[in-house]
Amino acid sequence: MDDASTGAHPITRVLIANRGEIAVRVAQTCHALGIEVVAVHSDADADADHVRIADIAVPIGPAPARDSYLDTDKVLAAAKATGADAIHPGYGFLSENAAFAQAVTDAGLIFIGPSPDAMRLMGDKAAAKRAMIAAGVPVVPGIDDDTLTDEELIPLATEVGVPLLVKAVAGGGGKGMRPVHEIADLPEAIAAARREAMAAFGDDRLIVEKLIQRPRHIEIQVVGDQHGNVVHLFERECSIQRRHQKIVEESPAAHFDPDLRQQMADAAVAAAKAVDYVGAGTVEFILGEDGTFAFLEMNTRLQVEHPVTELVTGVDLVAWQLDVAAGRPLPAQDTLTSTGHAIEVRLYAEDPANEFLPAVGHLSLFDIPAGPGIRVDSGVSTGAEVSRHYDPMLAKLIVFGPDRDVAVSRLQSMLRRARVLGVQTNLDHLAAVAATPAFMAGDLHTGFLDEHLPDWTPATLDDGQIAAVAAVIAAPDASDASVFTSLGPWRTTGSPGWTVHLRDRDHDHLASVAATSLGLVVDDATATVTRQADATHVQRGDRTTTVTMSTNGDRHWVHLDGEIAATRVLTLVPPTRHADASELAGGAAFVSPMPGAVIAVNVAAGDVVTAGQPLVVVEAMKMEHPITAPADGTIVDVFVRAGDAVDAGQDLLAFEAADTGADG
Ligand code: ADP
Repeated sequence: MDDASTGAHPITRVLIANRGEIAVRVAQTCHALGIEVVAVHSDADADADHVRIADIAVPIGPAPARDSYLDTDKVLAAAKATGADAIHPGYGFLSENAAFAQAVTDAGLIFIGPSPDAMRLMGDKAAAKRAMIAAGVPVVPGIDDDTLTDEELIPLATEVGVPLLVKAVAGGGGKGMRPVHEIADLPEAIAAARREAMAAFGDDRLIVEKLIQRPRHIEIQVVGDQHGNVVHLFERECSIQRRHQKIVEESPAAHFDPDLRQQMADAAVAAAKAVDYVGAGTVEFILGEDGTFAFLEMNTRLQVEHPVTELVTGVDLVAWQLDVAAGRPLPAQDTLTSTGHAIEVRLYAEDPANEFLPAVGHLSLFDIPAGPGIRVDSGVSTGAEVSRHYDPMLAKLIVFGPDRDVAVSRLQSMLRRARVLGVQTNLDHLAAVAATPAFMAGDLHTGFLDEHLPDWTPATLDDGQIAAVAAVIAAPDASDASVFTSLGPWRTTGSPGWTVHLRDRDHDHLASVAATSLGLVVDDATATVTRQADATHVQRGDRTTTVTMSTNGDRHWVHLDGEIAATRVLTLVPPTRHADASELAGGAAFVSPMPGAVIAVNVAAGDVVTAGQPLVVVEAMKMEHPITAPADGTIVDVFVRAGDAVDAGQDLLAFEAADTGADG
């Protein structure tokens, strides 16, 4: 047997059957160990980070996962074609598919994970629970016989008593779970859970458990080797969940009793030993307010939240997975320690203002601060396309500190400075969680979000934030130089001001902007705008705001730093020019809405035009403002030519509407 810490790794080439941040993460450790990496990818991921980092990349089909990442035959064929000696499944996709693990082994390759038998047993909540009872691991009281008919199940569940939780045996990701608070609701909850489980997993078997009130989710990381050793790597707390999905995870658990930690760790090791567990796995427990804990399930793979364990233990869990897969023995339990505190938050491409539905788009900026105590596990970078085909998690943002208070303050600071533009994310929601006093105090339970941030939506931007954005939009930048230079002293006192109209979802914000001898004045306060490479500092009054902007047509993606950070998509609403044709009695002069340049003049004096026809286009504030005919009519005169610089309020042309014109 090779020693765990010396010599070339027995595994030489690993195919990673996954994508996104976990494929990147696994590849990094492979490279650190001198192991070559084979990436597989769908057509949608040809330019993805996990492909770029690999030594060999194999396309395995179209974007939908079932035609690529979930296609066992294609993944195996790619492994054979590239001479890989092992397959790492990551999490999700094929990672808990016992048939796939078996097929990998049958093909003469190493599956980096547990045996198919252990996977099958733990993938079945009812069978797993029975195995745990046999191993002396505490479980949640309830009915774990999944063969009962509804008629048999209902009276037994009634005996257990409400509150209850109906759970799909094949469940995952919170699907097929229904709480029941009144016995009268039990039959409908059972029917609904069966329907949902059948649709999601093709398996409608159920168990019923006591619903634990105000519980914490505590899980223990375990690793088993091929020599019968199982060690634990302490706990993670994952109590902050949205719709039963973890969004914040930490290690150690806040204010955790050392005796309880030891009891839960012992139970987790017993659970893993009971199924001859080999590889990295997680035993999840639910911890009641009374301090009693019970087995929930075992995840037979590397988990999303493994980095917090790595940061407090100094262990590279992927390296350990590779080592035990190669037959190397684990170190002894008493060599393992936990130091400091780590917190992870999951950054999702989703729209908090729209029910947290997955969001897609082009990441025009993906910039997470680096520095001491910060780790970013990411599958994307600036320029990436976020598609609807895959899990919306973009990255995991992880902080580490000597204690929880330091870790929390690093988290708050990082979340304030993280800039993600072009795709909606939950960044502001995560920042709101991190700023919650209960979170800072470590007072956690699985109902945390419902209790502290119910129905959270992004806050409306305040006037100062809007003024800062308006200043950045209105202030000339290098590309505007010609316009503003040719305008001459546009800053002369008395130059007419204009209005910047920004729409933030359904909120309309107006900021008045004027160019004066003192500089730019926004909402009656002088604003000093200093542009840097990709951000702009706005000093206005006694407030400094750093604005990062990425503009796509009339949509401005902005990140605002300052006391409160925010990311928003603001629409610059063009001033309507004479939208109301009735105002045009007789004739009208059309004026430039703001300082800018005439980029097109489509008409000449005497032209007959129809309503809606674009007459002149003025470019200002990095967008084009077409000035259109409000009604059918005639162009009386044109005062500007293409290329002219114009000031706010300057006459562009004279127009006469047809009705009044004909009659008059
Ligand atoms: P899944 O496999 O869908 O993730 P789990 O059994 O792991 O399902 O449970 C997911 C989450 O649901 C847990 O983290 C916990 O918040 C909640 N939960 C599960 N079982 C119970 C229970 N008996 N009482 C209260 N909450 C529970």
